[in-house]
Amino acid sequence: MNIESLLQELGVDLKAHRGAGIVARSPIDGEVLAELAADSKASVDLKMARAQAAFQAWRQLPAPRRGELVRLFGEELRRHKEVLGQLVTIEAGKIRQEGLGEVQEMIDICDFAVGLSRQLYGLTIASERPGHRMMETWHPLGVVGVISAFNFPVAVWAWNAALAYVCGNSVVWKPSEKTPLTALATAALFRRAVARFGSDAPDGLLEVALGDAQVGEALLDDGRLALISATGSTRMGRAVAARAAPRFLRTLLELGGNNAMIVAPSADLSLALRAIVFAAVGTAGQRCTTLRRLFVHHSVYAQLVNKVVAAYASVRVGDPLVEGNLVGPLIDAAAFKGMQNALDQARDEGGKVHGGERVLAQMHESAYYLRPALVEMPAQSAVMCHETFAPILYVLAYDQLEDAIAQQNAVPQGLASSIFTTDLREAEFFVSAQGSDCGIANVNIGPSGAEIGGAFGGEKETGGGRESGSDAWKAYMRRATNTINYSSALPLAQGIRFDF
Ligand code: NAD
Repeated sequence: MNIESLLQELGVDLKAHRGAGIVARSPIDGEVLAELAADSKASVDLKMARAQAAFQAWRQLPAPRRGELVRLFGEELRRHKEVLGQLVTIEAGKIRQEGLGEVQEMIDICDFAVGLSRQLYGLTIASERPGHRMMETWHPLGVVGVISAFNFPVAVWAWNAALAYVCGNSVVWKPSEKTPLTALATAALFRRAVARFGSDAPDGLLEVALGDAQVGEALLDDGRLALISATGSTRMGRAVAARAAPRFLRTLLELGGNNAMIVAPSADLSLALRAIVFAAVGTAGQRCTTLRRLFVHHSVYAQLVNKVVAAYASVRVGDPLVEGNLVGPLIDAAAFKGMQNALDQARDEGGKVHGGERVLAQMHESAYYLRPALVEMPAQSAVMCHETFAPILYVLAYDQLEDAIAQQNAVPQGLASSIFTTDLREAEFFVSAQGSDCGIANVNIGPSGAEIGGAFGGEKETGGGRESGSDAWKAYMRRATNTINYSSALPLAQGIRFDF
């Protein structure tokens, strides 16, 4: 199916978006998919005005009614899972299975949010004063801005938007300039859900602003924005946080990771091997939770590393639309260069590199397919302390678990981690307060591939935000504490006397 008919099936009128400013390319072959009009400061201003008006109407609807819109949107996603999944593959380059998985994640968060729309609970709190009651009430927040990264072009938006909508907010979305088409397709499906919902859904519940960092900045500078949820590199997060700070704009930051796995002597090595390969080479190493550092106990090091090297050599690299290929292309030439630079640095720092070479270059001159790289390192050196967004896995041997955990935690990022062990003491120690310092700490599964039910996010330079499940919804609401006096006296808290 060509791109125009794919987009048509999803309800996108490409003609309405054609223009200058954004060139959408497929990393599969480097070909241009469409040239689209970027937003200007003035158009962002108009979109913010529409979103603000939508918020004022939407917040008046009961939350379970708002949940109904998210339910209908989930239905549209179910109906179009194949096609939208295919578009994700074409635009972001992830394999078919992962493209479909991304849409499934959107469906899952819709289901979660529909249930949540009847569970936006506050506490009642014991008052110290007679004849008084205290409670907390959760109110809609306002216009929620979502800035998203190329590697999860639609799921991350859905994590934010599904919760934002049931919480009574409107959304302005600035997708990655590398993946504008999946955003337009998602918005078209959302419009279908709105049309089925009825006239009590205001216009402007979802506005999409296309463009690069400047469009993101225009969004951040708009005083009507109540929260910015930004997903991307730590560099981007620093710029967003600094811009948001002067007016105390709420931020929810989901930034880079540098994720690790520890394989202990008692580990089930066949499970560990499968987890390592999926976590390190899946999405061609372009997940925020991709496994980048592997600490293996010296007693099983040779046995495991030989198996990983063999698996890496056999894993099929190629067109992500073709069934059976497990590693698709990198997003662009800059990502390829970043990978080669990191491998050069690793060699300079004493690393022994297996794989990492470019393949299929004759077939696709402007696309970047590579064999994943495994790098045996003598120590955790500088190259291992930053995130290279590519399939590079650094491996180190360790002797003491405490030392492996200390090394795992000794990087600026704090997103995902895991241990493979069948020793209960080791497993519990790893997830204890003295163990992993990451937002995600797993036992006997890899660091990537999270479910939507838990709160997702990480510590330190990963930004500290939490999205998706658990009580992440609270970030999208405003909490009011109410004290109600139903007595005929006016006692003051702390027993203070103030008689006049
Ligand atoms: P990126 O930082 O280059 O861009 C992300 C988004 O931020 C894009 O929409 C971009 O236009 C926008 N942006 C960039 N600079 C900005 C600025 N100064 N102001 C406003 N907006 C700005 O990231 P990318 O290359 O698209 O994605 C890869 C990165 O994202 C990796 O570091 C990865 O770990 C991270 N990521 C994190 C998570 C998470 O949940 N922690 C999820 C996915 C990706």
